[in-house]
Amino acid sequence: MKLLGTDHVFTLADLKAHYDAIASYLHMPSLEQVQLGKGPDLAKLRERCEAIAGLVEKALSSRVWNSTFGVIATLDECINDECKKPIRKRMPSGKDTVDAQCFECKAEYTITTDQDGRVLWTPKLTCAPCSAPGCPERTTLWTHDVKPGTHWRCRGCGAHNRIVLSVSKFEDEDPAPAQS
Ligand SMILES: [Zn+2]
Ligand SMILES: [Zn+2]
Repeated sequence: MKLLGTDHVFTLADLKAHYDAIASYLHMPSLEQVQLGKGPDLAKLRERCEAIAGLVEKALSSRVWNSTFGVIATLDECINDECKKPIRKRMPSGKDTVDAQCFECKAEYTITTDQDGRVLWTPKLTCAPCSAPGCPERTTLWTHDVKPGTHWRCRGCGAHNRIVLSVSKFEDEDPAPAQS
């Protein structure tokens, strides 16, 4: 463990505390106010500005900026052969299973961390059969590609397969036993 520095932040509360006070100085005093000696109290304004400057300086001199602590899971290469781009995903603390998607090709993964902190990327894949009768060949599809329009050439028989939407008769889950 190594101390990297402290992240001093100019908070919304700091801003709120000073904003209204400063805002009242932004309006030009009326001639009447000046004549009556009711113009802005410049000494007070200076004091206020110095307090704000101190806060801003402290924030700007922080050695650590916008610190976000958490584990970044990295996959060196998307396993989609046509992509192979690296993927990074922040693991929210307290979660050991997270869904991730490749920015480039939209391939989806499930990221899990085991007890030793090792990160495992599991691609979301689906096995699709060939449309040719009797062909045992199966193709692996990304789950996000399982939609009408996706097509592929069967490596076994060469059939050109595609995914279509179709309507079929809903069969009862418990069909009556066949008459004998
Ligand atoms: Zn990809
Ligand atoms: Zn086939």
